[in-house]
Amino acid sequence: MPLVVAIDGPAGSGKSSVSKAVAERLGFGYLDTGAGYRAFALHAINNPDIPLEELLKSFDYEISLDPQKAQVLLGRVDVTSEIRTQEVASRVSEFAREPRVRSLQHQDARSRVALCGLDGVVSEGRDLTTVVFVDAGVRILLTASEEVRLQRRSAEKTESTENLKARDASDSKVVEFMAPAEGVKLIDTSHLSFEESVAAVIAEIERSRA
Ligand code: C5P
Repeated sequence: MPLVVAIDGPAGSGKSSVSKAVAERLGFGYLDTGAGYRAFALHAINNPDIPLEELLKSFDYEISLDPQKAQVLLGRVDVTSEIRTQEVASRVSEFAREPRVRSLQHQDARSRVALCGLDGVVSEGRDLTTVVFVDAGVRILLTASEEVRLQRRSAEKTESTENLKARDASDSKVVEFMAPAEGVKLIDTSHLSFEESVAAVIAEIERSRA
């Protein structure tokens, strides 16, 4: 089994960009579990008349663990950019609430990591430290104040402030990702630069290996 670095956190905490950079620098794989939920939401949006049970059966997707590509395929179609649209962002929580969608995503994340053949994988999402990889070698919750998170997202121009707030509110009804569970290291990035955030995560990984 590779060393699993599980990172939770709300939108705008820096978890995706920081996780990706940490994976690149350590030569680890990178698993963005949010991309799996987004790919499912896109599959559902593309097939509006199909019941959930059928959508689950026909859901065929691939996520590359290469941190430089982080490519997502739905069937054979590259949807890496399409899963980041406003439309997907505004619908994803609705599907992520479904227990059957969650359980499929959980199993999938575990098997992708178990079978990857790499020394380590940095995996990130809302419930990684509390549900998916509770036994991970390193468990971190990345947070930042709401003000900073909203500033970061508006600088990225990927999602409206209203949608981001609604998504966090809806997601937190399903899983707790604002406060660290027992044994989870809290890293508040509100006053850290990107490089400092990356260094703080790498230091935590090094501590666990010492
Ligand atoms: O991480 P990202 O913002 O791309 O995640 C998109 C959505 O997927 C979240 O708003 C949430 O609804 C869902 N998600 C989840 N559990 C995860 C990762 C993402 O419920 N581990």
